[in-house]
Amino acid sequence: MKSYGLAGRVVMRNSECGVRNRPRGVPGAIHSAFRIPHSAFSIFAPMLSVTFLGTSAARPTVERNVSALALEREGETLLFDCGEGTQRQMMRYGVSFALTEIFFTHFHADHLLGIVGLVRTLGLQGRAEPLRLYGPRGAKRVLTSAISLGSDRVPFGVEIVEVEPGEVPGVGGQGSGRDGYKLIAFPTDHGPNAIGYALVEDERPGRFDPEKAKAAGVPEGPLWGKLQRGETVMVDGREIPAAGIVGERRRGRKVVLTGDTRPCAATVEAASGADLLVHEATFGEDEVERAKETNHSTAREAAQVALAARVRKLVLTHLSARYSISAEELVKEAKEVFPETVVARDGLTVEVPYSE
Ligand SMILES: [Zn+2]
Ligand SMILES: [Zn+2]
Repeated sequence: MKSYGLAGRVVMRNSECGVRNRPRGVPGAIHSAFRIPHSAFSIFAPMLSVTFLGTSAARPTVERNVSALALEREGETLLFDCGEGTQRQMMRYGVSFALTEIFFTHFHADHLLGIVGLVRTLGLQGRAEPLRLYGPRGAKRVLTSAISLGSDRVPFGVEIVEVEPGEVPGVGGQGSGRDGYKLIAFPTDHGPNAIGYALVEDERPGRFDPEKAKAAGVPEGPLWGKLQRGETVMVDGREIPAAGIVGERRRGRKVVLTGDTRPCAATVEAASGADLLVHEATFGEDEVERAKETNHSTAREAAQVALAARVRKLVLTHLSARYSISAEELVKEAKEVFPETVVARDGLTVEVPYSE
């Protein structure tokens, strides 16, 4: 694990998820500073990262706020859960308010109360575009009452979508309605209807080999771009197919967010081969019984899920207040099972590079 703390620019090794502290006091769009070229001949690699806005279970502490996480991909911000005080955490850690979609994993208050204030602030900012809120069964009832709390009117449309396990369609992009990825809800084990979310990127083109292109007589320029897109090009009346110059198509990245849950097979399945698994770890091993009673996980159980799913990296979050200052014990217990584990803290951004 390596930290990348350089202000404004991040250099990543391709084989690992970079972890850095989000610079504080940088409101709004800082995304572009973190975009880096994937390779000299590839289109820019879409930036993909998660920023932890709240990492405490059940209630805030001095060090940690309650649950919320911003997933940023290529300038698009998706917010998952919205605990009390989330809007202030967004300001502190530079997460854009120009978001269109907020996804809820379940409706315990520590994941929900922040939406009441956030919609007011969006209204004060003069927002006119509709906002879409997604959540499991019961979302319409709970979220309708949350956003109508108080006497002030929300001056923009709010659409509430109840999500069943399976693909969550968007309204932009192509096909799935999402641009370059699918979002898949999966059932978790945390009382009725709780769900987690998996962001699964589309496949991307194979690796372009400039030496092979040159050897085939294709001059550098727009024709290289065509080859990379898998098209056959014409050079001096000869047809030159992309195969042989461009490798096999490569898988995109996968990020899986559990929300609150017991360790469960559905998470293992959803997280299979994921680049990043964000799993709750409310308790340590000494409270394994309490974890069962309250439908939560221990750090070790989260690590067992990560191991079974063969993910590349595990981040623990949703920690009991007891671990607010130091979560070393949780990390130690998890690492004994799954070494590629880190624990989240508020403001932590984890970048997700391609594995190849
Ligand atoms: Zn919770
Ligand atoms: Zn809960």
